[in-house]
Amino acid sequence: MRSHLKHFINGEWVASTGSETINVINPATEEVIGQISNGTEEDLDKAVAAARAAFPSFSQTSKQERIDLLNRIADEYEKRKDDIVEMITQELGAPLKMSYKMHYNMGLSHFRQAAKELETFEFSERRGSTLIRKEAIGVSGLITPWNFPTNQTSTKLASAFAAGSTVILKPSELTPYAAIILAEVFEAAGLPKGVFNLVNGSGEIVGNGISSHPDIDFVSFTGSGAVGQKISENAAKTVKRVALELGGKSPLIVLDDYDVKKAAKMAVANVLTNSGQVCTAATRTLIPKSKKDEFVKAVKEVLPQFPVGDPRDEKTYYGPLVSEKQYDRVQEYIKKGQSEGATLVAGGTGKPEGLEKGYYVKPTVFADVKNDMIIAQEEIFGPVMSILTYENLDEAIEIANDTIYGLAGYVIGEDEVTVDRVASSIRAGRITVNQAPADFSAPFGGYKQSGFGREWGDYGIEEYLEIKAVVGMPS
Ligand code: NAP
Ligand code: MG
Repeated sequence: MRSHLKHFINGEWVASTGSETINVINPATEEVIGQISNGTEEDLDKAVAAARAAFPSFSQTSKQERIDLLNRIADEYEKRKDDIVEMITQELGAPLKMSYKMHYNMGLSHFRQAAKELETFEFSERRGSTLIRKEAIGVSGLITPWNFPTNQTSTKLASAFAAGSTVILKPSELTPYAAIILAEVFEAAGLPKGVFNLVNGSGEIVGNGISSHPDIDFVSFTGSGAVGQKISENAAKTVKRVALELGGKSPLIVLDDYDVKKAAKMAVANVLTNSGQVCTAATRTLIPKSKKDEFVKAVKEVLPQFPVGDPRDEKTYYGPLVSEKQYDRVQEYIKKGQSEGATLVAGGTGKPEGLEKGYYVKPTVFADVKNDMIIAQEEIFGPVMSILTYENLDEAIEIANDTIYGLAGYVIGEDEVTVDRVASSIRAGRITVNQAPADFSAPFGGYKQSGFGREWGDYGIEEYLEIKAVVGMPS
């Protein structure tokens, strides 16, 4: 049992002013693995005061000081590799190998990338007698979800530190321990006190407190659309800047010149990653109508290569969902898909055989999905693939864009001109061609109801900056 009831405020581990605790559960075993404090408004006020006090000096540090700091953080993070990997497996249920390959590495990449970006980042620009300066935005409130406990925290933190902003982080109550390790990493790296403050607790109290706090200048949020809307409404009252990274229902368009078996493997790998709990998951697979039967057959054949199972088993590709609530939610969507008339070609409701304990969901594939079905319109956040067909490219693009979301899109094809046409026609913030690996220098964020703002790389740093014009500045 890991009891970690303290918050990290002003460079110290401090007790909560409240006495309520929240249990943290291992979704693979359904056992309580520890507790955190359910932070109070008073805890948050202390953290905001610390971040505010640290801002004047931290925002004036030189670029080189912040480059060194980010690299020291990355070095300390690397020393904690085993702890981070183990913790993500325990609190999220991610397979050990994914906790390392994906979660651990993504967290690390953001710190290294931010240091690299700073080398060439210009904080001032002269236009004749006017000097344009980019200055740290002030105190930032960061609210993160559970599906990528190190990635979503690190991208925000690395950008904030690179810009010279001080922060308060409230991670998801479901996966709070990765952030506690991050706080230890920052301590070891010598981050000045007050620059990073961690307040654990619920969205209702700490999250809500962040979005409405008069002394917080900017809120960066990743999570659901419903909470994103509440945050925007709250933030409007003190005219805070907000960045929202919300959900998606991303299309994957397979062009008719591409090998069907290879495409099927890419599509399955994508939708089952992290048990489907990925905001950019390619959950709508669009196939030329003439290739549908061949594609469905190829998907069924390839599924056993991506087994669901115990996160500690080397062979496992994906583990349980994060919580019973998410499990129930995904079961409901699978039932809806069936009642809406989609053809269930693999998986379905109930637990996979031999995995009765833990929030495991079968790899589930629907064919004959129409884009107006609920399973094609709403974010399921589970290992569920919907296969749709198209007659021609215009129709494929129309279906791809017929969604309230616009976070990501995927195109799999050989012909460069067609690939380019599809990539430029999808209304979404990140398009990936033929399963290209992630690029940490590339901006990440959504169009439409997937939110606004961009994270990662230099665009991520821009989020934490204000722009000042000094007119008539002598040179
Ligand atoms: P969520 O409710 O939006 O939670 C995300 C974060 O916001 C958590 O830290 C949460 O705190 C906090 N929060 C909750 N209510 C808040 C409020 N009123 N004010 C400020 N912060 C608040 O998301 P979820 O419950 O984790 O997941 C629900 C659905 O969101 C998923 O099924 C999925 O569709 C979507 N989602 C999207 C992403 C993404 O990357 N785009 C990530 C995760 C989830 P708690 O600790 O209390 O939960
Ligand atoms: Mg909650």
